[in-house]
Amino acid sequence: METRPWFSPLVEHIGGVSVAELAERFGTPLYVYDAEVILRRCEQLRRFPVVRYAQKACSNLAILRLLRSQGVVLDAVSAGEIVRALQAGYPAQGDPPPVVYTADIFDRPALELVARHGIHVNCGSADMMDQLAEAVGGQEITLRINPGFGHGHSQKTNTGGPQSKHGIWHEQLPECLKQAERLGHRVVGLHVHIGSGTDLEHLAQVCQAMEQLAGQAGPHLRSISAGGGLPVPYRPEEPELDLDRYHQLWEQTRDRISRQLGHPVQLEIEPGRFLVAESGYLVAEIRAVKRQGERTFWLVDAGFNDLARPVMYGAYHPLSLCRRNGNPAPEPLVEVSVGGPLCESGDIFTQEEGGYVVSRPMPQAQVGDLLVVGVAGAYGSVMGSNYNSKPLAAEVLVLEGTPYLIRRRQELEELLANEQVPPPLAQ
Ligand SMILES: *Cc1c(COP(=O)(O)O)cnc(C)c1O
Repeated sequence: METRPWFSPLVEHIGGVSVAELAERFGTPLYVYDAEVILRRCEQLRRFPVVRYAQKACSNLAILRLLRSQGVVLDAVSAGEIVRALQAGYPAQGDPPPVVYTADIFDRPALELVARHGIHVNCGSADMMDQLAEAVGGQEITLRINPGFGHGHSQKTNTGGPQSKHGIWHEQLPECLKQAERLGHRVVGLHVHIGSGTDLEHLAQVCQAMEQLAGQAGPHLRSISAGGGLPVPYRPEEPELDLDRYHQLWEQTRDRISRQLGHPVQLEIEPGRFLVAESGYLVAEIRAVKRQGERTFWLVDAGFNDLARPVMYGAYHPLSLCRRNGNPAPEPLVEVSVGGPLCESGDIFTQEEGGYVVSRPMPQAQVGDLLVVGVAGAYGSVMGSNYNSKPLAAEVLVLEGTPYLIRRRQELEELLANEQVPPPLAQ
């Protein structure tokens, strides 16, 4: 069994490097990624012929480079993510496409970049097919299908079904295929992503839907994509994904589709969270220890401007403590609630969906000790904002025992760099 340091109440090291030293050298709040964990996840996914990383989970260039070194290809959902992919050294074109633009719309900058570089497009709306044809003529495309049902760890991460804006509605596939043909597009792949945190029961449903859809999509189909959504345990008692079973279900589906069509079909998966979530930690400093009635609060220098998942989804993250003066034997735990610096009552790391503030048993701490938020690598730094005029946190990647700064902390001056006062107000 793999050791999972993110679940221990006290941590001293990340990837073999002292947390106290990281905080000293790079400051807090600080994102730290352990490359070893990412490499292990890549290894686990080797049995899939094409692993396409949904970079929106954590799109730092250094992380993209690390994944490129492992033969992982990329998904991009915006012009900015296409630029990142090219910057990370991915070629624009190839087989399988090194970069796929997956979205429900083209904004104008994205369409411009797709056209300029010949990036493969996975269309989530019929309008995208029109706009692509208008910009560059008929292309090989894939279609993202909404199979009519979805599943996610929260309503906000459910990306299938009638409430979801994502994908082409399954009943419209025949119409879309005709439209594609008229426009000169060739539909070479189908893609279904129904949400983050999918379980195996729902997966079987998705596989079935894919099989039906593939039958309609016909002779040019070369690939099917299972999307992402591979779950990651955020609590010690949550089970790990049964990857063997997951793989088996999809491989069987792929084989049946291949037989049905009479030619080989490639299987892609598109994980975001699975590859990076457990590698990442958010390190913050405890700046106040307060009692409010019966409740004890630790207030730290990181808030939902740094990690939005708790306030957005009521998401649970494991919390650990790193004492500045070393970690003595754990004494009786105390119940604490943990909040950040923002002027906003939702700025709480220990909350449940609906915003209820809860507490956790934690080792005792003092001002100056470090809070280490675990499983923060996915949808962490990428959702960072400048709310309350807070600069974006620094990011560090620990590679074979050496910490490298992969994003410097934003400077306060940079927060204002784009703003201008009109002359009438300038006196
Ligand atoms: C977000 C997203 C993913 C990745 O989801 P995870 O839950 O992080 O694996 C994959 N594909 C698409 C189209 C997505 O939007």
